[in-house]
Amino acid sequence: TDFGFRRVDLDAKQELVDDVFHKVAGRYDLMNDLMSAGLHRVWKDVMVTRLGVPKARPFRHLDVAGGTGDVAFKVVGAGASAEATVCDINGEMLKVGRARADQRGLASRVEFVQGNAEALPFPSAHFDGYTIAFGIRNVPRIQVALEEAFRVLRPGGRLLVLEFSPDVVPGLDRIYDAYSFSVIPPMGRMVTGDAEPYQYLVESIRKFPRDEVFAGMIAKAGFSRVEVTPMTGGIACLSGGWKI
Ligand code: SAM
Repeated sequence: TDFGFRRVDLDAKQELVDDVFHKVAGRYDLMNDLMSAGLHRVWKDVMVTRLGVPKARPFRHLDVAGGTGDVAFKVVGAGASAEATVCDINGEMLKVGRARADQRGLASRVEFVQGNAEALPFPSAHFDGYTIAFGIRNVPRIQVALEEAFRVLRPGGRLLVLEFSPDVVPGLDRIYDAYSFSVIPPMGRMVTGDAEPYQYLVESIRKFPRDEVFAGMIAKAGFSRVEVTPMTGGIACLSGGWKI
């Protein structure tokens, strides 16, 4: 189900998303820290801990919509024999990521591959883990992306999705709304010279399926033992499942 959008709308959405991340790539990491007050680091840490990367045994990981490499760097940091592939549709984000990998001396353990979450350029049953952080919201056909995640994971592999959620707890939701609509776009304009990408960001969070609906989509893609963990008053949600 493409949420009732027609194909042209979906293609236009991907174009808009590409434009947004093309514009902000150079300032992306700074904006992440500013806008989430550093919280995105905590959420990503929770996700990578949950992933359970083995300390010494080999682990082949795929981080989709991996942008500038944050999650991949944490994964290879967690396991001495872990290797990660960052796949992102946007070459500008990958360029920033590659430079960061070089700086950290991780270039031999993290590779960067341009590709679409809806049609991953990898063989089936190839990876031990699949993560996508703040990325699936941007993908036009979410169900297709989840099916691709299932395909590229080996049996026994784990999917984890970190995403902003529309299920913010009552009380916090009003403060959060005020922050989202009055603080984020102007802050975006100050740092990147453009408010529009951040307006898009705020709106796309409101349109994302609710936690339980999204869990249903994960199950529909074939995953078992589907899990949903709201974090920070429901602002973010960590969900996932196992390919059995
Ligand atoms: N995962 C990184 C993080 O948490 O810092 C980056 C998240 S950023 C908000 C969203 C990323 O999704 C962008 O780098 C964008 O290029 C990527 N993206 C958007 N549509 C995509 C698609 N169809 N396939 C793969 N990546 C996509």
